[in-house]
Amino acid sequence: MESLSFRLGDERLTLSAELLERYGTTGPRYTSYPPVPRWRDRDQFGPSEHRAALAAAAAPTRSVYVHVPFCERRCLYCGCNVVITRSPERAEGYLDWVAREVELVGQHVSETRPATQVHWGGGTPTFLSPGQLERLWAIQVERFPLAEGAEVGVEIDPRVTDREQLATLAGVGFNRLSLGVQDTDPKVQEAIGRIQPVELTRDTIAAARELGFGSINVDLIYGLPHQSEERFSQTLRHVLELAPERIALFNYAHLPQRFKHQRAIPSEALPSGMDKLRLFTSAIDVLSTQGYRFIGLDHFAREDDELARAHDAGTLQRNFMGYSTRAGSDAFAFGASAIADVGGRYVQNEPDLKAYGAAIAAGELPTRRGLELSGDDLLRRALILRLLCNDRVSRQGLAADFPQLLAPGFEQVFARDLERLAPLVADGLVRLEGDWIVITPLGRLFARNVAMCFDEPLHSGQGPRVQYSKTH
Ligand code: SF4
Repeated sequence: MESLSFRLGDERLTLSAELLERYGTTGPRYTSYPPVPRWRDRDQFGPSEHRAALAAAAAPTRSVYVHVPFCERRCLYCGCNVVITRSPERAEGYLDWVAREVELVGQHVSETRPATQVHWGGGTPTFLSPGQLERLWAIQVERFPLAEGAEVGVEIDPRVTDREQLATLAGVGFNRLSLGVQDTDPKVQEAIGRIQPVELTRDTIAAARELGFGSINVDLIYGLPHQSEERFSQTLRHVLELAPERIALFNYAHLPQRFKHQRAIPSEALPSGMDKLRLFTSAIDVLSTQGYRFIGLDHFAREDDELARAHDAGTLQRNFMGYSTRAGSDAFAFGASAIADVGGRYVQNEPDLKAYGAAIAAGELPTRRGLELSGDDLLRRALILRLLCNDRVSRQGLAADFPQLLAPGFEQVFARDLERLAPLVADGLVRLEGDWIVITPLGRLFARNVAMCFDEPLHSGQGPRVQYSKTH
């Protein structure tokens, strides 16, 4: 039976087709726990619950996310909440709404604490003109001033970003840049409807470096049409020449029933099964030998980057903005579809632009759904996040943080979870080392499967009937 051999860090690993078959299932991505489909809709978690969340914000630090939903054209693989338009006026009206939303949220937040982390995502934030970028910045910092040394990041699309926009962003305080690249091969780019010459990406990064952006992230996707190991290794060579501090390598989720535009992707040209996983493992191999650390799920960091150091030290964190070294923040979020994690609740804004604007125009918070986390949710979230960020969790450490919930003993509380974990231990994906539950190097490819063992509602019939993406 076929198997894959690859290097991860200093180790050479072998992955069999049998293991892939057993664990290549569908599951949540765990950008949150509990996952979004398990949150309560607006009729059970609406503006009044949203207000309660804001009033309960008491974490020592804050972070701010702003969503800009506009793109000039649609990439065929896209799974984001996007509004396709070329009209700058729509952005102007949107900024009016965001300004009003910041004001509304500000009315319910008791005191001003500086933000240690800011991220603008989309869509394409650089859909905005330099003047609009400055305006959005002013709206945000008036209510959420920046802390000294804050991480301030923005997602850009090199195809619609010029030097003036980059200079504006650097000028107001952005110090991190994340660029979509996906694949540099012309045939793949044509099939996904995103033509982006590698020279353009190179020039954009060079300009950003010149302007003082200290950290650059490049997004890649594996599992796209026409990708082969050979073609994708060329993409990796191109990206390595650019020497980004971080690389995200996402698994393409082909869900044409959910995203109609994905139907234009030639499904017969999609790699699947072992071929798809080969793209991922060969990327791990190449990046491991080129000074990058696989920090978890789909992220890599250069060995000199703080995320790589935090991963080594077991202090890595994860939130809606991705991996981070900053812990314990209340995360405020603005704009259509934006997700906040504040006062022990998750809250998502209306994804539909019209509904978002209508709520704001009515002077109401644009709440679409949310969840107040129970004690059990908080416990499981802590356990799952520790596993996903640091590949290990200490039972005693968890008991120290949740003394009441774990008073009956870890084995009793997690009896069913440990039963689910047993086959993964037998297959060498997890090791039980005294006090520690440790994901092995091979198990790191199946970290979501490990997390799923501790997601009790997923197994007890309380999980939602939704289409989750494949773990591999
Ligand atoms: S630029 Fe990004 S958000 Fe916009 S359509 Fe393409 S993938 Fe989607």
